[in-house]
Amino acid sequence: MMRKSAFIYSKELEKYHYPPEHPFNAIRARKVREIVESLGLLSGEGIREVPPKPATRVELKKFHTARYLHALKTASGKHWDSDALSMGIGTPDCPIFDGMYEYSLLAAGGTLVGAKLILTNEADVVFNPSGGLHHAGPERASGFCYINDVALACIMLAEQGKRVLYLDVDVHHGDGVAYAFYERCDVMTISFHENPRVLFPGTGFTNEIGEGEGKGYCVNVPLPIGTYDEAYMKAFEAIALPLIGAFKPDVFVLQSGADALAGDPLAHLHLTNNVYAEVINHLLSFQKPILMAGGGGYNIENTVRAWALAWSVLCGADTGNPAVGGVMLANTDWQGGLRDRTLVISDQQRDSVMPAVEATIDAIKLKVFPIHGL
Ligand SMILES: [Zn+2]
Repeated sequence: MMRKSAFIYSKELEKYHYPPEHPFNAIRARKVREIVESLGLLSGEGIREVPPKPATRVELKKFHTARYLHALKTASGKHWDSDALSMGIGTPDCPIFDGMYEYSLLAAGGTLVGAKLILTNEADVVFNPSGGLHHAGPERASGFCYINDVALACIMLAEQGKRVLYLDVDVHHGDGVAYAFYERCDVMTISFHENPRVLFPGTGFTNEIGEGEGKGYCVNVPLPIGTYDEAYMKAFEAIALPLIGAFKPDVFVLQSGADALAGDPLAHLHLTNNVYAEVINHLLSFQKPILMAGGGGYNIENTVRAWALAWSVLCGADTGNPAVGGVMLANTDWQGGLRDRTLVISDQQRDSVMPAVEATIDAIKLKVFPIHGL
C-alpha cells in the first residue's frame, strides 16, 4: 500500500534566525527542502508539503509551565530578563534573539501538525526538519532548545490512546523527553547517544531505566567515542528491535539529530548517514506511522544530506515506490549522491569501540529486558 507522506515546512520559518555565531542553524530545514524538492520528493502521489502552525497555548501547557511560557514570550526580542535567565533563557546555549518565541512556537507546532496528520490517518510518515528540540524541560531552556516539540507530540499521541515509541538518535541524550515520561509505561523512550561522561547533558546512563510504572520504559544506550556504523547497528539491533517488538507501539516518534555523524564539530561519534537510513528501514518494517523530527547536526552539509536521505527512505523512494518511481528511476545516481561512502575502521578503533558497545548491550539486557519478558 502506498505511504502517505507529509513534509512540514513553510517560508514563514525563514524569518527567524538564531544569532549568527550560534551553532544551531535554522537554515538546515530550507536546505533539506531544496534537495528533496529537486529529487521530486515534495509532491506527487502520496507526498505533500504541509505548513506548520504555531503551537497553541493549550498545547504548550501540556508540558511547559505558564511561568516559563510567559518568560519566553517576554524575553523574546529583548536582551536580558532575570526571571527568564533563571530558567535558562538568555544563556550562551539558549540566547535571546528576535522572534525566539514565534520561531519556537512555529517549529514546535510543525511537529504537532504532524502528530495530528497521523492521528487522523492523513499521513503515515511525517518529517518536520525544524523540530526535535529534545533538551527543553517543563521550565527550562537547555541545549539550544526552548520548546520541547517531541515531548509535546508524544503527549498528544498518548492522550489519544496511542502506545508511543520515542526513539532518539541525536548524539546527545534526549533528556527532556526521557524525563517527561520517566514514570509512564505508555510512552517508551529509547535514546542512543555518546557517552554522557564526555558529552552534554551528562545524563543517559544505562542505569536510568525509569521509575514506578515507567520502570523499564526508559532505555539509554550510551556509546563510546569513535562508534562506527557496524557497532551502532549492532547495538540498535540487539537493544531497540527486541524492545520495540515487545512494546508493540502504535506509532513512532523519531528524533533524528544528525550530530552523531562523523565530522560533527560538537561530538565524537563516527557514523555515516547510512545508519540513519538503516534505522528508518527497521522502523518501517513494523508498519506503524512514523513522526520524524530533526534535532542536532552542526556540520550543516552532512546534516542536510542525512535528512534528505532519511526523507527519501521514509517516502519509500529507495524501494521503487510507484508514487515516485518514475521520477527517481530516471536519475540513477541520486541515492549514491545522498549516501555517505563507507568509512574505513582501523583495528585500533574496533578494539576500543566494540567491547564498550558490547558492555552497554549486556548492561541493558540485564536491567531492562526481564521487565519485558525478554
Ligand atoms: Zn544533539
